[in-house]
Amino acid sequence: MAHFDYQNGELHAEDVPLAHIAERYGTPCYVYSRAALAEAYRAFDAAFAGRDHLVCYAVKANSSLAVLNLLARLGSGFDIVSGGELARVLAAGGDPRKVVFSGVGKTAEEMRQALAAGVLCFNVESESELIRLDRVAAQVGKTAAVSLRVNPDVDAKTHPYIATGLKQDKFGVPYRDALSLYGTAAGLPRLRITGISCHIGSQITKIAPFVAALNRILALADRLQAQGIRISHFDLGGGLGIRYKNEAPPAMADYARALAARIGGRPQTLLLEPGRSLTGNAGILLARVEYLKHGKTRSFAVVDAAMNDLIRPALYDAYHEIVPVLKNRRGVRRQRYQIVGPVCESADFLGHDRMLALAEGDLLAIMSAGAYGMSMSSNYNTRPRAAEVMVDGGEPHLIRERETVSELMARERLLP
Ligand SMILES: *Cc1c(COP(=O)(O)O)cnc(C)c1O
Repeated sequence: MAHFDYQNGELHAEDVPLAHIAERYGTPCYVYSRAALAEAYRAFDAAFAGRDHLVCYAVKANSSLAVLNLLARLGSGFDIVSGGELARVLAAGGDPRKVVFSGVGKTAEEMRQALAAGVLCFNVESESELIRLDRVAAQVGKTAAVSLRVNPDVDAKTHPYIATGLKQDKFGVPYRDALSLYGTAAGLPRLRITGISCHIGSQITKIAPFVAALNRILALADRLQAQGIRISHFDLGGGLGIRYKNEAPPAMADYARALAARIGGRPQTLLLEPGRSLTGNAGILLARVEYLKHGKTRSFAVVDAAMNDLIRPALYDAYHEIVPVLKNRRGVRRQRYQIVGPVCESADFLGHDRMLALAEGDLLAIMSAGAYGMSMSSNYNTRPRAAEVMVDGGEPHLIRERETVSELMARERLLP
C-alpha cells in the first residue's frame, strides 16, 4: 500500500496530503493513485507475458471514465455487463475489439449496440440467449462471435454473495449441457464460436479453484475439438482476491504461472477479466468525523461517508482497514469505536470495533476502496454521490464532481 502512506505523520496519496484533498474537494471523496493503478495493471499483464493473452478489465469494479481511460492507455481490454458499460468504455477511448460482453440478461438492444461497436466476443449464458443473439445478428447483418460461459461447478470458497461457479448459481450454462449447447451454437448461421469462458467468483485467495475451473475448460475444449468445433480462446474470468486485512492472496506471478503451466503448449489465447485485483488497492474513501457519540456500552464515530458511498461492509460484512489521516493525534485517548454513517439503517457501518484516537472534525481513510466502492454507490437518503480525485505524483485531478441535490431531483415530476 506504498502509494497511500504516511509522510511526517500525515497520510498521503502519492505525494499529495489527503488533508489537502479534503479541503479542496470536500468529503466524502474517493481518492485514487494513478501509480497504484498502473502498477497493478502492469504486474497482472506482465505475469502472463510468456503467452498469448488479453487482459479484459472488469468494468463493474470501477467504471469511472478516468480509470477506464488510464487502463485503455495501458493496453487493457474490457469485460462489460451492460450497454451502459459499453458506452463508458467507448467514451473512455477503449478498443471495442478488446471487449467481451458478459452477463445473464443481455437485452436485444444491448446486443445491437455491441454488434455495432464490433466487440470481440459475447459470453453467452443460456440457450435462449444464443437464439436471440443469432436473430439480432441476422437483423443487423452481422455475425456474432460467441463463447459459452460454462459453470464449472467448483467451490471458490468465498462469500456466498460473490461465489458464482457452483451449479446452483444463476450464472453460466451447466457444464453437462455445454457440449450440446455448443452443437446448437454451431448450427446457428449468425454465430461464430470462438471461446469458452467461466467466472467462478470474486475475492478468491487460493490458486486451486482457478486451476480446477481451467481443467474443466480444457477437458471441454478437447471434447469440442473431437466434434470438429475449434476454440480459439479460453476466458478464465476474474476473481483474484486482494489484501483487505490479513488475507494472503497468491501473487499475480504465481497465479499466472499455475494457469500457464496447465495450458502448456496449446495455441489458444488466454483471456482474463480481473476487476478487484487491478483497482481495489488503488483507491481509498476519505471521510470526516462529524460526531463522537459515547454510549453506555459502545462508542460511535459518525462520519460523513455511509453505506450509499461504500456498501461492501453492509452488503457482505466486508472488512476495510480504517486509519486516521493524522497518525499521532495528541491529547486524545485511543478507544474502541463503531465507525458508522448518517444513513437510517443499522447496517450503515463502515467498520466495527476499531481502536482509534479521534476528535470531531478528524479525517479518516477507509482503505482498499477502489473496487466495488463508487461503482456500487447509490443516492439512498438523497445523498449526492461523492467526488472522485485521481492523484498523479504531486498533482490531484478531480475526475468526477460531487453530485448536487438538484441533479438528483432533476428528472422528477409532480402530478398536475
Ligand atoms: C465481476 C466479474 C469479474 C471481475 O471479478 P473480480 O473479482 O473483480 O476480479 C469478471 N468477470 C465477470 C463475468 C464478472 O461478473
